[in-house]
Amino acid sequence: MCSLTLTSASTRTCSQELDRLCTAIERCDAVVIGAGSGLSTAAGLTYTGERLQRYFADFVARYGFTDMYSGGFFPFPTEEERWAYWSRYIWINRYAPLPSDLYQKLLALVADKDHFVLTTNVDHCFQCTGFDKQRLFYTQGDYGLWQCSEPCHAKSYDNRDAVRQMVEAQGWRVVPNGELLAPEDGASPKRFIPTSLIPHCPVCGKPMAMNLRADDTFVEDKGWHAAAARYQDFLRRHRRGRVLYLEIGVGGNTPVIIKFPFWRMTAENPRAIYACVNPGEAFAPAQIADRSILIDADATETIAYAAASRTFPRKDSLAAAVYAFA
Ligand SMILES: [Zn+2]
Repeated sequence: MCSLTLTSASTRTCSQELDRLCTAIERCDAVVIGAGSGLSTAAGLTYTGERLQRYFADFVARYGFTDMYSGGFFPFPTEEERWAYWSRYIWINRYAPLPSDLYQKLLALVADKDHFVLTTNVDHCFQCTGFDKQRLFYTQGDYGLWQCSEPCHAKSYDNRDAVRQMVEAQGWRVVPNGELLAPEDGASPKRFIPTSLIPHCPVCGKPMAMNLRADDTFVEDKGWHAAAARYQDFLRRHRRGRVLYLEIGVGGNTPVIIKFPFWRMTAENPRAIYACVNPGEAFAPAQIADRSILIDADATETIAYAAASRTFPRKDSLAAAVYAFA
């Protein structure tokens, strides 16, 4: 890959690229969405600033955390404190309502197309929004699942009820829509959970761990393999024809999961289109430059524009778009 010449959208304006994207969505037979953390950040699942302060002010004051993500790797002195941290983290990023309707708009955009989602995100936003579970592949795990830390067996466990008990034991309130509210009397939440709530493996008794791909202990259970097989099957069925590989918010950390395969599959299918939505990082190899749509803009603006265009097609701009599938 190092010999690749990358190209950016410098010769076309952002609005031209947006119109090309609208045309591509309109005319394609299938869409493969590849989503990275940039999509959830755009949807409001931010790990710094106001959200960090609202839910982790006590941890910030004690340990100086500047973002939720790195706090998750902190060597907490006790398991009671570690799970207090993680239970809040899991609840607000997995079970609480989404801060925006971005994912819903994305669903509306592709709902009438044969589509499949490949994502490195572990927040489950696609499923929570109503994307068909059979059309999703979460490669890196799910905040909503635990596994044995060893792991002594290849199974994951739903953690919703246990996590809710943990946050409530700290004084947080979970209201009917799932939102997490601070203790009613204005008191600070506790920074630990009762020892009895620390989760243990039901088979070997060792501590439970998050079902996240952080190292080689990640459990790929039956559900993971079934999703992987469905994804491969979808790709096989759409090896040819008008396929749109729509990459949104994928950073440079793990390009081998989404970005590189999308480039390769576009190169292999002369009728495929590659679209990349990523502010400051919209690139494609020169070999597929003519079939690439590079949008140097935020996912929120892009999806809103494309969704509006699908609802109210602007025939003049579609006709004027300099692009059509081969
Ligand atoms: Zn075990």
